[in-house]
Amino acid sequence: MTIQELIQKDNTFSESGFLAKVDNTYIMILTSIMTENLKRVDHKVGNELYQQLTEKLNKLQSQNEIQMYDELNVKDSSIISIEDKDPYYEIKVNLISRYMDYKIDKTTREYKSGNNQSRIEKSHILTFRKKKNANREGISRKCPGCGASINANSTGICQYCGTIYNTEDYDWVLQDMKT
Ligand SMILES: [Zn+2]
Repeated sequence: MTIQELIQKDNTFSESGFLAKVDNTYIMILTSIMTENLKRVDHKVGNELYQQLTEKLNKLQSQNEIQMYDELNVKDSSIISIEDKDPYYEIKVNLISRYMDYKIDKTTREYKSGNNQSRIEKSHILTFRKKKNANREGISRKCPGCGASINANSTGICQYCGTIYNTEDYDWVLQDMKT
């Protein structure tokens, strides 16, 4: 499927807007591991990936370590495939990032392992999915907690009742991340 074919079926799609969201999601995930605050990305990733991230963070915490991703930035991201996987559209992205990859002791904040002298370059394949009927008229975007309408640019937390919800029903959600 080409980008043009996707736009014909989903007129809300734009390549630049999508890739900006991809870069932002990726940076938020690494930052949330570094700051031990995974809740921030709960609504942006699928359940299975969230479980993997939780296990990674639990392992670091059991060793009293903090994973650092210093001087993190995304060098490039590009769409490598778009597929119709009923009831989803699935997009794979190649994302190249650069950062210093090392660990510190959580208590003393002292360096433990890895490279804190120079940045390394990493290439990731990210898989995003969006429900095909997400933009159709009549699909209501309501908070599962209180029923209030959800803003399209929402943060994943209801502004009225504080419920955290998954945006899977109407937005691109990261399902998988391979290095
Ligand atoms: Zn609510």
